[in-house]
Amino acid sequence: MDLRAQLSMSFHMDKCIGCHTCSVSCKNVWTSRRGAEYMWWNNVETKPGAGYPLTWEDQERYRGGWEVSGGNLRLKLLKGPGKIRTLANIFFQPNLPTIDDYYEPFTYDYQNLFNAPAGDDQPVARPKSLITGDFMEKIIMGPNWDDDMGGSPLYAANDPNLKGLSESQKEMLTKFHKLFFFYLPRICNHCLNPACVASCPSGAIYKRGEDGIVLIDQDTCRAWRFCVSACPYKKPYYNWANGKSEKCIFCYPRTETGQPNACAHACTGRIRFVGVLFYDADRIEEVAKTPDERLVDAMRDIILDPNDPRVIEEARKQGIDENWLVAAQNSPAYNLFKKWRIALPNHPEFRTVPMNFYLPPLSPVLHNAKADNGGLFDAESVEFFYSMDKMRVPVRYLANLLSAGNEQLVIESLKKQMAVRLWVRQQRVGDVGDSAAKAALSSVGLTPEDAFEIYKLTSLGTFQERFVIPETHRETQSTVDPRTMYEKRGTVGFGSKKQELVSRQW
Ligand code: SF4
Ligand code: SF4
Repeated sequence: MDLRAQLSMSFHMDKCIGCHTCSVSCKNVWTSRRGAEYMWWNNVETKPGAGYPLTWEDQERYRGGWEVSGGNLRLKLLKGPGKIRTLANIFFQPNLPTIDDYYEPFTYDYQNLFNAPAGDDQPVARPKSLITGDFMEKIIMGPNWDDDMGGSPLYAANDPNLKGLSESQKEMLTKFHKLFFFYLPRICNHCLNPACVASCPSGAIYKRGEDGIVLIDQDTCRAWRFCVSACPYKKPYYNWANGKSEKCIFCYPRTETGQPNACAHACTGRIRFVGVLFYDADRIEEVAKTPDERLVDAMRDIILDPNDPRVIEEARKQGIDENWLVAAQNSPAYNLFKKWRIALPNHPEFRTVPMNFYLPPLSPVLHNAKADNGGLFDAESVEFFYSMDKMRVPVRYLANLLSAGNEQLVIESLKKQMAVRLWVRQQRVGDVGDSAAKAALSSVGLTPEDAFEIYKLTSLGTFQERFVIPETHRETQSTVDPRTMYEKRGTVGFGSKKQELVSRQW
């Protein structure tokens, strides 16, 4: 076992109100500078939608992530074997998003509102490019272009997650009264098998062994932009002003001092949870090669139980601080993803083994059930969860987004969330019936204690419960061995915690 620690963020999609406070706070802290105008390390997309950059989920087009070929993992980006393929692609990458897939960053000529000479018409603030400084005739794209389906059906119809949906389900997109949409907040997933790290010809990207944060060494980056192409989530960005690539740094200067990330701290919906996971780095490659239908279960398997005495012993042997051990034992990330099995990764089929997780949205199920049944639920029905088939957001769509197409995993999460609601409703309103509420819980493998814990964390969670982030003791930590950064590029699970280096780091 090669035990390492990972900071992980989970998102409660039902609670996201699409206010973009997270994006704005991230931008104010990290990317409000020249060359970074179009970068949104944190962005929030409306789903269904084409996202940012445009159709980022379409790996036929962008060739991001990994594929299993001949029993081996291979970056989709690189077609042939060996160094020649890297050289062949190094000066020309047809798979990079263009500025039109993002947008030409702009401001408005606000001064004209004050300084325009008197005239017959109201003065206007025309858009002005932040790249060229020229006036723009028309704004045709933005970081949030299909917000609340504003660009639909033009944009939503391009959503790759609609694959496999029936014609009538797709028709929902254009029928307002049946319309569904929800929000997908996204940051870098700080993956266990990061394609960005593996693709970098300069060996400039590394994953920190002590907390799993993936960083780009700005001194070593030579702007090849392979990371931009190889990341299937399109989370590295190229800074056109300084010629370096940049990405979300998980706010490590904040997390190292025990503070939550700027996006999570600012989140008005309180939808975000940050905690520690322990994982077995020896098994990353095995997990990344697992067939789609078992991929999420394999990801859950690699996460270690922080209360298991063998895991505790191994963590101590690896030099992991006691405060990290305690944090792992109280981790919302562990509970949501592994213990309760209600959070799921975004597009695990990209095989980067992403380390952020999402609770699939449930609200539309209840609204639909209410309309169909004249109530929130049918307590008389033997089948508590009958509405799952009738839900507004098709399970197929959520499975394409969150479980590599495995619908059972989505249904399991939704049923658990629904059972918790029934149980809490019985406690608060008392119109479900004690035995019916308990039966709903036991049918999904939850106890009343579990239900209370889930309710407490996801509905009432205090700051301290939502963010369990241990301080980092720099003096005891080590990260990737700089001597092997170049040799290790392209390997799986790059970035390690090397005991022998502890004394010579920092
Ligand atoms: S591959 Fe994973 S770690 Fe790398 S930039 Fe993309 S999301 Fe982040
Ligand atoms: S701040 Fe929170 S609620 Fe608002 S868009 Fe971001 S994740 Fe959603």
